[in-house]
Amino acid sequence: MSSAKDSVNSTPPPAASARFEDLGLSKIMLRALHRVGYKTPSDIQAKLIPLALEGGDVIGQARTGTGKTASFAIPILEQLDPLRECRNPQALILVPTRELAEQVYQEILRLAYGCPTHAVVLSGGKHLHRQMKQLGEGVQIVVGTPGRVIDHLRRGTLKLDDLWCVVLDEADRMLDIGFRPDIERILKRCPTDRQTLLLSATLAPEILKLADRYLVEPSRVDCSNREISVDTIEQRYMTVEPVDKFDLLLALLEREKPPQSIIFCRTKRGTDKLYRALEKKLSKDPHWSKCKMGCIHGDMNQKQRDRVFADLRAGTLHLLVATDVVGRGIDVSGISHIINYDIPQDCDDYVHRVGRTGRMGRDGIAFTFVSKEHGDQLTSIEQRINRLLIRDHLLEEMRAAKSAPASAASTAEESNENPLVDPALTFKVEKPKPRSRLFPMRKAVNERLQKMNGPD
Ligand code: AMP
Repeated sequence: MSSAKDSVNSTPPPAASARFEDLGLSKIMLRALHRVGYKTPSDIQAKLIPLALEGGDVIGQARTGTGKTASFAIPILEQLDPLRECRNPQALILVPTRELAEQVYQEILRLAYGCPTHAVVLSGGKHLHRQMKQLGEGVQIVVGTPGRVIDHLRRGTLKLDDLWCVVLDEADRMLDIGFRPDIERILKRCPTDRQTLLLSATLAPEILKLADRYLVEPSRVDCSNREISVDTIEQRYMTVEPVDKFDLLLALLEREKPPQSIIFCRTKRGTDKLYRALEKKLSKDPHWSKCKMGCIHGDMNQKQRDRVFADLRAGTLHLLVATDVVGRGIDVSGISHIINYDIPQDCDDYVHRVGRTGRMGRDGIAFTFVSKEHGDQLTSIEQRINRLLIRDHLLEEMRAAKSAPASAASTAEESNENPLVDPALTFKVEKPKPRSRLFPMRKAVNERLQKMNGPD
């Protein structure tokens, strides 16, 4: 890994001078928090928990990695009635992906320590009949993806009559995926006197429209922290033409030898193709042949996806090729490197991808491959994170190294110098093209950022 590094700490930013003890939590919850090692509440937790405990509707603007799950899980757990008093679900948490559903479920179980709690995940890819059986036995909390929740509602296996809390987690992502009609269908089936908590990284007009329709006089909490990936993670880019991307990736893997990395691609097919090409190439490499590689995208069945996540969490999977949708659900603290093989089209996706590394106080670095036609996308990302990415010259160094032995030999012949002299010391480094030609907008952004931030 490169040495020039910003300090890395991606534990959710703590709220200024807040303590869990001051949030009106029960002793048993404080004990659970102590056990999971949460010493101070994050910003979103300090702001959202007291409001949620008061019972009102809340819109919370916060991204993954800010501790948002606990911010709604804690007040729900604090207010649950025991199963013997109510066998129907009391809280419903809607999330965009299966992986996030599993993650939220696991966080609930951790925070429910010492207080037996019955929660169930209702997401696609899992046995429908097992879920029906769990619902039949009685549950307090349902964590689900909209499609599967609708499925259970249609079958009459999920009853929402006793629900007092609904959470829309990553609401922007749910709308992006096209879950809006499903969400509305579900909300119309929920009791009107419920509490609704809406969590979203962005508050685009369609989110506010949804909130306007289904939330009652909501309080707003803004913990958007637009700098989330900037302060904590070293971020670099490399200019490369599409034909050279694979070779550049191999060189980058060779240089960095990342202990655990995710390589992001745009499409499912592209992910598969890259994974197969890497597997073929790296299986002969002395270092990589000892490492485990995997691939994950939406076309894989749930069992395969679960296995990949389990290996990633256990640290036995060293390199993962992934698409964005599943990338969002990855909450693993050991990821050292993110490689954006395809530049994300959406700036929020960039933040989400990069946010997979440098978690929980560990080191992290992100690389983004950029070709000429994607200069504008890089600029938008830089505007979004309010920071310029550092240019990494690996490709130029690769090219220079390739041409070096020949030129070094001929120079040595001509000058009768010792041909064993280290060619790396004698080759001429190819001068990289000026950046401004590749990215004409970058100069303007740089100037704007300097104006915004003042001189260094
Ligand atoms: P989330 O934004 O909910 O995905 O949380 C990101 C990560 O931060 C998860 O691994 C949580 O376990 C962890 N986390 C949440 N709240 C705290 C806290 N108050 N202190 C330390 N870690 C936390």
